[in-house]
Amino acid sequence: MDAGFTCPNRDGTKGFGGCTYCNNDAFNPSYCNPVEPLHYQIAKGIEFHTVRYRRATKYLVYFQPYSNTYAPLPRLKELYEKALEYPGVVGLVIGTRPDCIDDPTLEYLQQLSEKYFIQVEYGVESCSDQTLERINRQHGFALSEQVIRKTHAMGINTGAHFIFGLPGESFDHMLSTAATISSLPLDTIKFHQLQIVSGTAMERDFREHPGDFHQFSLEGYIGFIVRFIERLSPAVVIERFSGEIPPRFMEPLSSTATGISAAEGDSAALTPHPQRWGLIRYDAVLRMTEKELERQNTWQGKHYQI
Ligand code: SF4
Repeated sequence: MDAGFTCPNRDGTKGFGGCTYCNNDAFNPSYCNPVEPLHYQIAKGIEFHTVRYRRATKYLVYFQPYSNTYAPLPRLKELYEKALEYPGVVGLVIGTRPDCIDDPTLEYLQQLSEKYFIQVEYGVESCSDQTLERINRQHGFALSEQVIRKTHAMGINTGAHFIFGLPGESFDHMLSTAATISSLPLDTIKFHQLQIVSGTAMERDFREHPGDFHQFSLEGYIGFIVRFIERLSPAVVIERFSGEIPPRFMEPLSSTATGISAAEGDSAALTPHPQRWGLIRYDAVLRMTEKELERQNTWQGKHYQI
């Protein structure tokens, strides 16, 4: 759902312009439009997903774009309870920033958790403060850790979102964060490969410093994920490990940015975006990853060390 929230990293409370990779339009489904009433969006969402999940009769409403706890508590109550009224809705998943939640909101969500499935999903993105500063998150990792621990201790399902491929993070560094992430009391986790969206500050950073980015090919990313999840605690549920955004948000970059010289091809201006994997959908990436896990006879937590 797009309930019309904004974000403190956009409205000037914490910063302007937002995180350098952020363009919410790139991942907001077409049926989510904040000008439409909430129940209309839920109805459209159910209609859309019925095609794929034909036997589904119960639903979680996902408040995804921007920071979905960034409003006074009475407004949050109004929105969440309206969503929970919809027939078949049994819970909420609420995406937000770790600096956008306070004790009264957590206490309210704790009460709701007694009756419904409630999950708060925090955008953590990286365990490195240096990276968080470079991508203009306007919060550090320590805050994420503190808020995750508090939310979990209150009995609320706790999720987190991370991005692989952020500038300045090497393959080995990303791999090493499996231990840090495993030490957090998380119920669920989502990973995405960095997708550089046209027109964002991240695109400019990439054009200027392409060498700072570990660019994953599809096969390279699957190889990485296999190695990463071997080191990840088996106790955390991985909800997804790659993302997809509509191709129109990823225009071709110039030859300068990709590091490929014009001599290597006569269509330098049309050099494909290095992180474009073609029109492959998530379920195909999932199948390929499962196959690779089987081929290597490995699994989540195989090399996890407490
Ligand atoms: S916190 Fe989320 S909505 Fe706000 S700028 Fe960052 S990515 Fe965008």
